[in-house]
Amino acid sequence: MEIKLHNSLTRRTEPFSPISSGHVGMYSCGPTVYWFAHIGNMRAFLFSDVLRRVLEYNGLEVTLVMNVTDVGHLVGDVDDGEDKMIVAMLREGKSGYQIAEFYAQAFFADLSALNIKPAAVYPRATDHIQEQIEMVQALERKGFTYRTSDGIYFDTARLPSYGRLSGQKAEDKRAGARVDMAEKLNATDFALWKFSPEDMEREMEWESPWGIGFPGWHIECSAMSKKYLGLPFDIHTGGIDHIPVHHENELAQAMGADGVLEANVWMHNDFITVDGGRMAKSLGNIYTIANLVEKGFDPIAFRYFVLGSHYRSKLNFTWEAMEGAQNALNKLREIVREYPIVPSSDQVSPPHGEEGSGVVDAPYSTRFLSAVNEDLNTPAALAVVWDLVNDATVDDATKASTLLRFDEVLGLCLSDYLGRQIDVPVDVTELVAQREEARRSKNWAESDRLRDEIATRGFVVKDTPQGPKISLA
Ligand code: AMP
Ligand code: ZN
Repeated sequence: MEIKLHNSLTRRTEPFSPISSGHVGMYSCGPTVYWFAHIGNMRAFLFSDVLRRVLEYNGLEVTLVMNVTDVGHLVGDVDDGEDKMIVAMLREGKSGYQIAEFYAQAFFADLSALNIKPAAVYPRATDHIQEQIEMVQALERKGFTYRTSDGIYFDTARLPSYGRLSGQKAEDKRAGARVDMAEKLNATDFALWKFSPEDMEREMEWESPWGIGFPGWHIECSAMSKKYLGLPFDIHTGGIDHIPVHHENELAQAMGADGVLEANVWMHNDFITVDGGRMAKSLGNIYTIANLVEKGFDPIAFRYFVLGSHYRSKLNFTWEAMEGAQNALNKLREIVREYPIVPSSDQVSPPHGEEGSGVVDAPYSTRFLSAVNEDLNTPAALAVVWDLVNDATVDDATKASTLLRFDEVLGLCLSDYLGRQIDVPVDVTELVAQREEARRSKNWAESDRLRDEIATRGFVVKDTPQGPKISLA
């Protein structure tokens, strides 16, 4: 079945076909490791993970590269403000490399908690200074660069295709925005190499043909994607904030240095807002995955929450919505516990998203595949999951096998729950029996007390027409 993806470059949802048959080269802009990643950042990485899983579900082999930015990303994305890493070094009194290592490890722990499949490689900017210098040299040879007192800049007016991604030409910006031009020739020009300030010693600085300094933020992604995927590659992803500056500039660098489109398809996730507004330090609403866990949420419930909206829609985070996601996930887990244990998904169906084994429900699988292949329509895919579990005409073993297949895309770790009845300790069973006794004698106070005691042991008791039912809290 055809996969359709929305390409920000053409502004259309188009059938996807990889450059080399059966294989997809994919690059996702990774984190700047100067602080903990917040839930908005995690949406970007969940989006890239779902994309990668959908491609694999369709039988394609994916090489995912995700950079780790540990130098050169300034507080303002357009060459202004302080270096984010230096801000962190001053805040924590540590070296840049220690900061980068600490937050990179925290980032990898978040990825794993969210069941995000690892990239093939996580290249770091500081390990690829030479590649970045070589790309700037190539741009210099082709006449795209000029020198100011603080660095080597890309002259965007020399590239006719500049502005293709954002639809914003240099002139538009100059007229509209209040941009500090400094010595730039055009408002959209950007730094390729920055000189170390004379009045400050930088720990992260390198020799270059132009003087001691450090690379600009955008050149990192162009140089490393070229090294690990070759140019052009298939798909480049990031958040929508990257469209007007970071990705426009990456395109410019590859076009200038190598005369090619860096990637054929550019895909962007929209933002997470909190309580309808921006996440900001001053508002105290920048949440991390660890903050969700502190409040008792399972990181996979955040994954479920993100899957509940299309990646190109804004997603508003509230604690109520998070609770809704956790409840829905818990319900799904309880349902699959009742199913029989079935062989793992690759044993029950062909791996190419085409059904027909008879073990997996074909109509539901087709609906699911159409949903995810239609520009990653995950809300529709979740609706298929619920329709399936609620369908009394499908037997539980088929439901189990089908859900395991779907979970290759959803990543909700359903196999950890499927067919696994919960183990209720004897003392909890006794408390439940005592509570039944209390209810029979209409001793409601005692029955409530026992329910609370059962809850402190991590179990919930529900009264059903068939008698009390115990589940995990
Ligand atoms: P950064 O570490 O700032 O480079 O951001 C990492 C990724 O998160 C980038 O792809 C950003 O576009 C994305 N991003 C940043 N803030 C948000 C947000 N509030 N919602 C969704 N994605 C975001
Ligand atoms: Zn990037």
